[in-house]
Amino acid sequence: MYSSIHFNAKPRAVTNASKPEVLEKLRAIVGADNVLVDPERVEPYGGDAVKEKFPPEAVVFPESTAQMVEILKLANEYLFPVTARGGGVGYTGGAVPIEGGIVVGTDRMNRIVEINADDLYVVCQPGLTTYALQQAVEKYGLLFPPDPASYKDSYIGGNIAENAGGMRTPKYGVTKHSVLGLEVVTATGEVIRTGGRTVKNVVGFDLTGLICGSEGMLGIITEATLKLLPMPEATATVRASFKTMEEACKVLTRFTPEGLLPMAMEVVDRNCIGAIEENFAFGLAADAGAILIVAVDGFRDEVEKNAITIERILKANNGFDILRSKTKDEENKLWDVRRAISPSLMKYGTLKINEDVVVPRSKVPELIRRVEEIGRRHQTFVANFGHAGDGNIHVNFMCDRADADSVARARACVKETFELSVNLGGSISGEHGIGYVKAPYLDIAVDRPTLEVMKAIKKVFDPNGILNPGKMFV
Ligand SMILES: Cc1cc2nc3c(=O)[nH]c(=O)nc-3n(C[C@H](O)[C@H](O)[C@H](O)COP(=O)(O)OP(=O)(O)OC[C@H]3O[C@@H](n4cnc5c(N)ncnc54)[C@H](O)[C@@H]3O)c2cc1C
Repeated sequence: MYSSIHFNAKPRAVTNASKPEVLEKLRAIVGADNVLVDPERVEPYGGDAVKEKFPPEAVVFPESTAQMVEILKLANEYLFPVTARGGGVGYTGGAVPIEGGIVVGTDRMNRIVEINADDLYVVCQPGLTTYALQQAVEKYGLLFPPDPASYKDSYIGGNIAENAGGMRTPKYGVTKHSVLGLEVVTATGEVIRTGGRTVKNVVGFDLTGLICGSEGMLGIITEATLKLLPMPEATATVRASFKTMEEACKVLTRFTPEGLLPMAMEVVDRNCIGAIEENFAFGLAADAGAILIVAVDGFRDEVEKNAITIERILKANNGFDILRSKTKDEENKLWDVRRAISPSLMKYGTLKINEDVVVPRSKVPELIRRVEEIGRRHQTFVANFGHAGDGNIHVNFMCDRADADSVARARACVKETFELSVNLGGSISGEHGIGYVKAPYLDIAVDRPTLEVMKAIKKVFDPNGILNPGKMFV
């Protein structure tokens, strides 16, 4: 019996993946050393950042597309579940094999196939960390913009499958905006190739866009062609406090008339500020109702000029305690406040239910105000921070994992927050995806006809329902 705060977990049925003949065939495909079955060795592959464990029956590590094809053909023949896994740091349980079967680890598929500085693309396998990819292209003076905070652990395959975001989204978009083409093995073991190596490509349906964010439910990505940009020469950051969240968020629209497009605009609410001060004593103003952090990039002299303009705009709009970085070191220090949030919050509960709702950015103050009301009503501490520039706010409800009542109250807050976000013109996830954690709430955000289209697409790619079952649709 497994336990989950997100659904009524049942004892897992043993699937055909455990049959000796299936395990023998898997060993024949990838080599005996690349099939794990010992309980203590498969256990780490049963969870992700949600921190609930549902160990698979086996973990298999292919090294090529050809091996992936064989694995999926076998899974279709014997009808056992297959869950693809990247770095295993997803926030919605996407890589967790809640219905058993095998986990396909992409760790051995971590090669960079080509970096093309002339045509501004990189071709790579899915098992590379975001960081390793960024480091590799940086040597050519190039930038791969998607920057989930988990970039040192998350894999490119996982980023694409979750359509991950990050701080640089206001300027550079989310992962799908940097994906030119994909090689994908479908559930039936067909290899499909989507998109290509060019920014312009309007041939047929946009299957690249469909695979981005498909959470390993339509196919397994075995190769990606990703868009690159010239690496900006410099970055600078300006941080300011505001009396209220309304004031902080009003500034977001003041940059455009000055011709500015900051790459990051992050907001921190008063509960986070209190928690940070209690733990780290940065000397943040006691009367600050919000902190806004704005970053720009580009050529060095242009960056300095733009940072000065941002400082002026923040001041003119009631910002105080304004700090502008002049060196990389100073810039890092300004971001320390943002990095201190998560560890500071753990004082308020043993379980942090971290949601990532999204609303039109003008609605962020209303979202935060009403989420605070929801928290008060359910006697649950709530702290908000996140990507104000694109309206994607991390709403954190703190509760005690061992106290069922406190968890139930936090979960009531979650449902109301999802409904609120949709009513404000937004949705229930900006970047973390659905997985099993948000599956019970999908119909709050997606209407029935649209859901039926999604389910029909799933059926086309995966007629036997073997890829990542138990996710997204309940
Ligand atoms: C501290 C922390 C900070 C984070 N910050 C951010 C952030 O700023 N922005 C953000 O968007 N997210 C963030 N996340 C969430 C998470 O890191 C991202 O969702 C990330 O993209 C997951 O990558 P992964 O390689 O760990 O994927 P996994 O967790 O391994 O898998 C995620 C999903 O992708 C599927 N998948 C994995 N590989 C493949 C493949 N090759 N083909 C098909 N499907 C595949 C899995 O089946 C699963 O459904 C954060 C998480 C943590 C723990």
